[in-house]
Formats: sequence, structure tokens, C-alpha cells
Amino acid sequence: MKINKVEPKDFGSEIFLLKDISKKQIEEHLKLYQGYVKKYNEINEKIASLTDEDYAAANATYSNIRELKVTMTFAWGGIINHEIYFSHLGGKSRAPSGTLLKQIKTDFGSLDNFKKDLKATGIAARGWVWTCWNYQEKRLFNYLSDAHNFYALWRIKPIMVMDVYEHAYFLDFGSNRTNYIDAFLNNLNWDVVEKNFVKL
Ligand code: FE
Repeated sequence: MKINKVEPKDFGSEIFLLKDISKKQIEEHLKLYQGYVKKYNEINEKIASLTDEDYAAANATYSNIRELKVTMTFAWGGIINHEIYFSHLGGKSRAPSGTLLKQIKTDFGSLDNFKKDLKATGIAARGWVWTCWNYQEKRLFNYLSDAHNFYALWRIKPIMVMDVYEHAYFLDFGSNRTNYIDAFLNNLNWDVVEKNFVKL
């Protein structure tokens, strides 16, 4: 079986120059992301080296192939979610505009309403908030997830991702997730989000 080796991305230097989110917090967070990349590659190699005995022993309660294929979803989610998250932190853009702002107003009434929904969804989630375009409903919606691989959805595409795991903010904010979410929004590069939206 073909093995795709994933390399961790470099998110540039601006990621370490955030307001209210420390360099140390980002450094430690990046280590977790790099860990998902490492484990994803390890899982891929193990899948490629499954033996005929492993294939014959496939079982839905426990089997090597089951464990590898389940944990792969966790590792892949850990990679992709973090890559989107880090890609739009830092930089100079601080407000949505253009077609994205228009869509936010159509779907949420106002930017303030969007932020209210995003913040509450972030408090209600145990892992992630995904602002997504729903291709079927043709609207933006803030979805939540409790882990990298929970509550999978189809015919949607994330344009913005917010990490609300404790590891994303405890060093700087303790248990005050509300202040972290405010800091996240203050550091959000809306240019990147807008590009993700326009590319749909
Ligand atoms: Fe994280």
C-alpha cells in the first residue's frame, strides 16, 4: 500500500507575536501538532505493513486493522484542524470584509451575532469549533466537536477553526476560556478566513 509521509508545516514567525497569547503557549501547542504528524506517519507505516494474518483477523470489537483505522482518524483530525487553526492566527487583518462579511450578515444578522454564536459554541465544545460553509444549505454555520475525530459532517467545508481544548489556552488563561476566545478573535487573520471562503 502507498505510504504518504506528512511533514509538519511551518506557520511563520508571526504566530509567535500574538497579542495576549504567549510564545510559550504557541510553542507547546505546536509540539502537540507535530506529535499528531509523527503518529499519523507511524500509523500509515503500520497499515502498509499489515500482514495477511492481520487482514484475516479483522474484527469490529478489537483487531489491529480496526485500531489503526480508528486512531488514524484522530491523528488526521489533529493535523488538519491544527493546520487551519495556526494558519489564521497572527498578521495584520483584524476585521472581516467583502463577500465574507456579507455572508455573515446574511446568515447571522450581524458580525456581533456571529461572534456571540461563535463564543457560546466555543464554551459548549470540548475540542473544536468549525465555522463552515454548508454546501447543501448554502450557509455558514458554527459547528462543534469534542475531539479531532468526533461529529464528522459531510458536504461542509471549514473556513475557520478554533481550538478550545484546554491545552490551547491553560498556560496563559488558566480555566478562563472566555478570555482565551476573545484573544483568539483579536488575533484572527480575517484575510486568511476570507480567502478560505472565496476559494469554496
Ligand atoms: Fe490543539
